[in-house]
Amino acid sequence: MTVDLRHGAATDIGLARDVNEDSYLAAPPLFVVADGMGGHTAGDVASRIAVETLSREVADNSSALADAVREANRTVHQESTARPELSGMGTTITAMVAGDQTAEIVHVGDSRAYLLRSGSITRITRDHTLVERLVREGRIQPDEADHHPQRSYLERALGVDREVEVDSYKIPTQPGDRILLCTDGLTTMLDEDEIRDILEGTSDPERASRGLVAAAVDAGGSDNITVVVVDYPSAPEEEGKTRAAPSVRGPRGKAPRRTLMLAGAVVALGMVLFIAVRAAALTQWYVGSSDGNVAIYRGVPWFIHKVEKTTDISAASLPEVYREQLKEGISADNEGDALLRVANLREISREHGPTPEAATPAPGAGP
Ligand code: MG
Repeated sequence: MTVDLRHGAATDIGLARDVNEDSYLAAPPLFVVADGMGGHTAGDVASRIAVETLSREVADNSSALADAVREANRTVHQESTARPELSGMGTTITAMVAGDQTAEIVHVGDSRAYLLRSGSITRITRDHTLVERLVREGRIQPDEADHHPQRSYLERALGVDREVEVDSYKIPTQPGDRILLCTDGLTTMLDEDEIRDILEGTSDPERASRGLVAAAVDAGGSDNITVVVVDYPSAPEEEGKTRAAPSVRGPRGKAPRRTLMLAGAVVALGMVLFIAVRAAALTQWYVGSSDGNVAIYRGVPWFIHKVEKTTDISAASLPEVYREQLKEGISADNEGDALLRVANLREISREHGPTPEAATPAPGAGP
């Protein structure tokens, strides 16, 4: 289970705060960022306790990562109730345990995890904020969220209650993947394209971490900024593994008679063309629905496609905006990306549940 990771990390107080209330840990295979909140320096205490407890729990008993986060929640909560000066403190937490071919990520709050793969950036976690819920429910537009007055209102944080709900993701990783954990001091200052450009342009993870933090400070640094960058090793040969070249070594026309040869050649050419087009289409991935459930497809919607994997997520349990997207097909870069999108849909489905109209069985509706 040991994977030869490279990593970097950086934190900065920013330009507007008196205390850096963020904490982080980069101790392979465990990586954590936490963004504390609370009066005076309580936020600093909360994020530190959370990271320390998580680290101890993971080292001690290799219990499930989500359980370790729940334990960290109880510890922060106990401290906050036992010491009046720390009353009401809390913290976000985004943590990852890197496995050989997976990344297990757990998350509470509005710190984030991103996956950088083949030049594109995908957010793994979703923020537990009021505005993100309003966007998901279609009540405000995504671009309104960035400037919404309540954009930092957290709906979930560690240490606030005795129990906490923890989001958990298992990402199948690929050689060359880069994972970024960061607090909102980065993402409120830089948009995803800017973050991607810095990550893409800097191969050394330590320098990439420092570059991200410096860019967020340059952009205004209105909050503490913390990033952890984790690199999975690249494949020995970059080419060839992911691209299974379509085999078109079909039987070539060996017609005994000349007249048949031309017809044979035309048919063979048509077949080769069809096989090539089909093979090309089937290198594409998307997420759609099959028999009412979310499914992963290979191919191109409305053209050549086949179901690769069906899930138990009912399309009816998703908000309408996502049901519409499923109809069109949500394109994915590759299988891992498709799985990631399914994981996100599962979370959304869990929170949203069946809508009243969708829950009413329509006559002749499928399963
Ligand atoms: Mg913050």
